[in-house]
Amino acid sequence: MDPAFRFADRLGPAKIIHVHEPSVGLRGTLVVDNVAAGPSIGGLRMAPDVSTEECFRLARAMTLKNAAAGLPHGGGKSVLYGDPAMPSEQKEALVRAMACALGDFQDYIFGPDMGTDETCMAWVKDEIGRAVGLPREVGGIPLDELGATGFGLRSACEVAVPYCGFELAGARVVVQGFGSVGLHAARFLGERGAVLVAASDSRGAIRNDAGLDVEALAALKRTGGSVADHPDGETIERDDVVDVESEIWIPAARPDVIRADNVERLRTRLVVSGANIPMTDDAEKALHARGVLCVPDFIANAGGVICAAMEYHDGATERAAFEAIDERIRTNTEQVLEASRERGILPRQAAVELSQRRVESAMGYRRWSIF
Ligand code: NAD
Repeated sequence: MDPAFRFADRLGPAKIIHVHEPSVGLRGTLVVDNVAAGPSIGGLRMAPDVSTEECFRLARAMTLKNAAAGLPHGGGKSVLYGDPAMPSEQKEALVRAMACALGDFQDYIFGPDMGTDETCMAWVKDEIGRAVGLPREVGGIPLDELGATGFGLRSACEVAVPYCGFELAGARVVVQGFGSVGLHAARFLGERGAVLVAASDSRGAIRNDAGLDVEALAALKRTGGSVADHPDGETIERDDVVDVESEIWIPAARPDVIRADNVERLRTRLVVSGANIPMTDDAEKALHARGVLCVPDFIANAGGVICAAMEYHDGATERAAFEAIDERIRTNTEQVLEASRERGILPRQAAVELSQRRVESAMGYRRWSIF
């Protein structure tokens, strides 16, 4: 079998497209996984070490996420090879080239992801007329600035905490990846009395058992610093946040950060995934066996895409978008955790079943099931 089809199963992917434009050094990939429910929405990720496999797995996560959230959209994802911290003019040229290369694929709507932001989405919209996660000035609800995904993570935590037998007020929280998702999750959880005891970013990590000042860390990040530059705590190795004892552990960076070789080190009671695919299947099973509750990524971190879809369809207000995020994430988290408890299955299995039922039902209305 040609390795081009190595990801193919009954849900997708419908298309994998690689694009290349030497004049600006563009190399990128789009995976349109499944569009039975409608055109796919998914972020554009920019990093030097992305891959087709990462792109496919993220596109599939979007298929499941959009279905779980009840959105009229399928799942897709795009990746752009490059350092997101490159000079702005160079980045703009690459993002514009990527948009133009993929402009004809109407079944994919660009959104922001790691390494891209509202400004990038404004460039994409300018080139091809469609993108979500736009700046306010061009009709967007700036989901990263407002913290739509972090807000939804708090809703998921509020539902999950009673299943774990501790209170949110006073709970110790660790955030791996103090970016748009991670910092807002810490901020919203802080409003309920939870205490951030460790945070990391790509350049380092910091811990303070007495609690870190979330706003001070956010201010440091805004000025280009690292959480590790914050004076009020103990600097630790970036990946050692996995060892910091907590009640809630929030991955909000890259895929597969919890794996067979480090899962034993994680000492927490609840993992609520901000990042997409942050755990390997084996690690998730090991945590479940130890009684650590894991709310699956595509249930907990749907806030951004719910906000984006509302922006795309109705030009909804920020308040309406946040109400929808809270309501949908609470309902789904409750449904998944209840099914998991009743049937003794992994929350992920319950979540996948819920989403797949919806995707398959949408596929049933189509002549061609996935495109
Ligand atoms: P971001 O670029 O704003 O932040 C990512 C943060 O992670 C940065 O602070 C970066 O320094 C840090 N980081 C990178 N590698 C790291 C590592 N190895 N260890 C520790 N920290 C590291 O990105 P974001 O928008 O916050 O997205 C974070 C994750 O959440 C991604 O997996 C993304 O797919 C997922 N996600 C984002 C949204 C959204 O609305 N932005 C929605 C759903 C899921």
